[in-house]
Amino acid sequence: MFFYRLLLFCFATLIATLWLGGEPTPATHDPTHEERAAPDEPGITFNSVHVAGAYIAMTFDDGPSATLTPKLLDLLAAHHIKATFFVIGENVAEHPEIVARAAREGHEIGNHSWSHPNFGKMSDENVRRQLWRTDDAIKNATGKRPTLLRPPYGSITAREKRWIHDEFGYQIILWDVDPNDWKRPGPAVVRNRILQETRPGSIVLSHDIHPGTIEAMPSTLDALEAKGFKFVTVSELIRAATARPARSPAEAPVNVRAAVTPSPSPTSAPSGDQAQ
Ligand SMILES: [Zn+2]
Repeated sequence: MFFYRLLLFCFATLIATLWLGGEPTPATHDPTHEERAAPDEPGITFNSVHVAGAYIAMTFDDGPSATLTPKLLDLLAAHHIKATFFVIGENVAEHPEIVARAAREGHEIGNHSWSHPNFGKMSDENVRRQLWRTDDAIKNATGKRPTLLRPPYGSITAREKRWIHDEFGYQIILWDVDPNDWKRPGPAVVRNRILQETRPGSIVLSHDIHPGTIEAMPSTLDALEAKGFKFVTVSELIRAATARPARSPAEAPVNVRAAVTPSPSPTSAPSGDQAQ
């Protein structure tokens, strides 16, 4: 009888050991949690950031535009708001003085590629060339190299994220608020979508190459200020990150969706329009 009990005990121990050994990786190592990383985590990709205050980052892509970006800079200056511009290298080369002004006035400048291709479908060599040319153009215009990348269309593979981070030191910035302003739905729709979706720690995507977006901004900024939001650059938002509380399961799909949705693809975008 004793022998059988011993055997049973050994067997149970063996099973328990195997089972524990096969436990899924702890939640803190779950790769889907790499966004919203706290400062003590090796955060590379961000859709939004967990912060202790009502801080948000407004981001403007695809510029600079000769006419619209200066208008936006005037508005931001009047509100004492710092924003982040993810610029296209070709446009920087054409209007370096506008990028220089934005940087001088305290805005952050990030890399958004040279000519807005889809990184997810390109060779490493071509991606590298897109990034270096733009990095150089930003350095020439502002005297400073960027530390942030927003891939066009949000399209980037996990492997690209790693080597780009290793080689350029960039943090990869996506977004959690998307008013789809590139479809030009009209200023009221752009404003309402931003107001509805923005939370503390949000990264708001829009484009300073569409007149409707610029038209939407005065009332959008007024309303966000009335709600108590405070505006910081993306790097400031990341530096303000606090330890992330346990997330409810309902929260996860939102971030995962934003992280993996690269569309619309360049081919599906209406001609003459640029997404993200
Ligand atoms: Zn874009």
